[in-house]
Amino acid sequence: MNKPKIVVLGAGYAGLTATRKLAQKLSPEEVEIVLINKHNYHYETTWLHEVAAGTINHNQARYMISDVVNPKRVRLIYDSVVEIKQDEQRVVLENSEVAYDYLVVALGFVTNTFGIKGMEENAFFIQDIESSRVIREHIEYKFAQYSSGESTDENDLTVLVGGGGFTGIEFVGELADKIPELCKKYDIPRSKARIINVEAAPSILPVFDDDLVSYAKKALEDRGVEFRIGAAISECTPEGFIVGEDNELIKAGTSVWTGGVTGSPVLAKSGFEVFRGKVTVDSDLRMPGSENIFILGDCSWTMNQETGKPYPPTGQLAMQEGAAVANNIKNLLYGLPLNDFAFDDKGTVASLGLSDGIGNIFSGIKLQGKAAAAMKKVVDDRALFSVGGAKVLLKKGKFRPF
Ligand code: FAD
Repeated sequence: MNKPKIVVLGAGYAGLTATRKLAQKLSPEEVEIVLINKHNYHYETTWLHEVAAGTINHNQARYMISDVVNPKRVRLIYDSVVEIKQDEQRVVLENSEVAYDYLVVALGFVTNTFGIKGMEENAFFIQDIESSRVIREHIEYKFAQYSSGESTDENDLTVLVGGGGFTGIEFVGELADKIPELCKKYDIPRSKARIINVEAAPSILPVFDDDLVSYAKKALEDRGVEFRIGAAISECTPEGFIVGEDNELIKAGTSVWTGGVTGSPVLAKSGFEVFRGKVTVDSDLRMPGSENIFILGDCSWTMNQETGKPYPPTGQLAMQEGAAVANNIKNLLYGLPLNDFAFDDKGTVASLGLSDGIGNIFSGIKLQGKAAAAMKKVVDDRALFSVGGAKVLLKKGKFRPF
């Protein structure tokens, strides 16, 4: 008799955790496991702002999937998922097709420009390793051009960041460390280079309270970050952003949009019912109406039963969902009842560069400054260990002092 086939789509926090747990919980005699991912490596999505600023090398933020998943136990396919044919229990890839009995969809996010004119064409996105690496290279290229006299436009030394949420603020925090380094390297006075954050809402970092937000804003301003808060971007041109009611053009050599994300476009393409690009899953993490499809991480809205609101999409939520789904698939196979997902929130910490940050941990302890920066490294290393194991932690961990 054929063994049931579990197919996991995406080797991010959710998919890789689910795959490793499935391989631990179920024997090769019981099930076949297949993991499909665009690349042969996993990357730390929560570190991409550092790759984009150039404060870490992109290789530190990724590791080979075959180093943490035994290819003899799990069939690894490196290809892009194009569509899920639910009726036929098949996944269409760019180069082949794969049938499934159980499906785990963990394809992560894509940037959402909310239709802002010119954003798609003219802005950079912090979306994966490649897109982040291109930002780092572009910023440095602009500095090199200015330094060599190839460009005399001082605006080339401005980095403009749209969006004052988690990604945008963590990114400007890294830039506040990196830009002085670039100025030194290319003999450019620091005063000529600008880092500008533009946010349409009346405040930045909506997940934190006013005290922590004020701390973060002042700390970044002290390190040279300029804020344009309450200024909506109406257009992105090759020269920069057009903002505010008076349509001011803020010119920059590099414009980066971090203002929104949505679930993988594969969901909508496959005819799944999406709300703001993601599927709202049942409490056992299955797609409503489906027996055998689980949707996790940034592809889904998981409701907090107490508040009636979805949990904010985070790496820690994705990892916990990965582990929960492995359990539930085992239960399904064994004819046992499925468990409702229960999120264990360990708090949120945002970095503001290498040695500063803010955070809320263990339901109510507030952190700022070096303590938050140290905690952020603990969180990052913990994720490395939890998804990749001890070897990956030793190779890629953030052990450097401030
Ligand atoms: P991901 O980890 O993004 O993985 C998706 C995987 O699917 C990737 O390997 C990708 O290559 C693959 N994939 C995508 N499309 C396809 C396709 N068509 N075919 C095949 N493979 C595909 N969260 C926190 O908790 N704390 C933080 O500090 C934090 N900081 C962040 C900073 C940044 C810059 C960003 C962008 C996000 C941050 N987040 C943070 C959010 C967190 O990273 C996400 O919530 C988390 O990565 C979601 O995990 P996931 O497994 O759903 O997706």
